[in-house]
Amino acid sequence: MSDLFSHLADELGELRQKNVYRSRRIVEASQGIYVQIGGRILVNFCSNDYLGLAQHPDVVKAFQTAVNEYGVGSGSAHLICGHSIIHHALEEELATFTGRDRALLFSTGYMANLGVITTLLGRFDTVFEDRLNHASLLDGGLASGAKFKRYAHANVAELTAHLQKTTGNKLVVTDGVFSMDGDFAPLDALSQIAKQEHAWLMVDDAHGLGVIGEQGGGILEYYGLGQADVPILMGTLGKGFGTFGAFVAGSEVLIETLIQKARPYIYTTALPTAVAAATRASLQLVIKESGRRSRLKILAERFRSGAGQLGWSLMPSSSAIQPIIVGDSQAAVALSNALFDAGFLVSAIRPPTVPQGSARLRITFSALHEEQHVDRLLDALASVKP
Ligand SMILES: *Cc1c(COP(=O)(O)O)cnc(C)c1O
Repeated sequence: MSDLFSHLADELGELRQKNVYRSRRIVEASQGIYVQIGGRILVNFCSNDYLGLAQHPDVVKAFQTAVNEYGVGSGSAHLICGHSIIHHALEEELATFTGRDRALLFSTGYMANLGVITTLLGRFDTVFEDRLNHASLLDGGLASGAKFKRYAHANVAELTAHLQKTTGNKLVVTDGVFSMDGDFAPLDALSQIAKQEHAWLMVDDAHGLGVIGEQGGGILEYYGLGQADVPILMGTLGKGFGTFGAFVAGSEVLIETLIQKARPYIYTTALPTAVAAATRASLQLVIKESGRRSRLKILAERFRSGAGQLGWSLMPSSSAIQPIIVGDSQAAVALSNALFDAGFLVSAIRPPTVPQGSARLRITFSALHEEQHVDRLLDALASVKP
């Protein structure tokens, strides 16, 4: 035993030495923007529940009602007997919400990304990925066996040069709102070049849907782009929607192809029906309550101006994701710990989640934060500044 595992123990030691060892904080209770950890109540600034819907009474009630009717587990995969009338209704509502022919639920965003990319591409094809894409998009590209081309962040010129040199099926893949930076992909230019070079374009809008755009239509609404411009849209339900799961939206042919061929769709248990019911309720709130989106903007702007005055290094982000770049991993962890001691939960993000030398505090806002929470965080950031 010890021999088989000893090299793993050595690797763990190395991770510790490099200050990139990860450990989990145990949340004992969670109430809106407050979490209890180690008996202490902290203000949470690292959740992706941007709109504050995870505990909304309508969402919770829809969940409870459906649990009474359908139980907890869905019992099987969608193609066996796990696809309920509630799942189906949610798919139709998501198609309408995104202005697309069809939508297909996946159990997680990770699986949706793996499913789309491995279904569309094989070893004679090429996937083009922004260097800062989410790990699930990179993993999907690698798992597909396609040739793998990464381009510098948001660098359309470099992408264009790659595309022009390539034959076979081509898929350009990008985050909509970049998950660790908060900036937007240059989607108008990407969609133009993808059309020109006969490449598919896929956008993962995990951090934009529900949150960005007047109607919450995400990064595509922001740019005014539709299914003809961005044929493949992937969204997650565990962030802005406050529930769990994910979906892909696009043409009839795309969705039917995924149903027939996407292994991470076919060979996994369907989301609990109650989660789909909760998501239908949260979708209604996303559509109706645009005030939640304007709150986020106000909070992020207040934070940016305060943190800028304090001399912290911000990113060009107008979203609810506001990173402070620290650089060194150990320093980022030390700052996160100091904020923890001051009563704020802010996560330190280190390589390999972000590029070497760009460790950061990733601060996220919720529509449930008040101005005073932002001001108190800024006070704490002033007192921990080296
Ligand atoms: C969170 C996230 C995912 C994964 O979604 P899950 O539903 O959590 O598996 C995919 N892409 C991006 C950009 C994300 O931020």
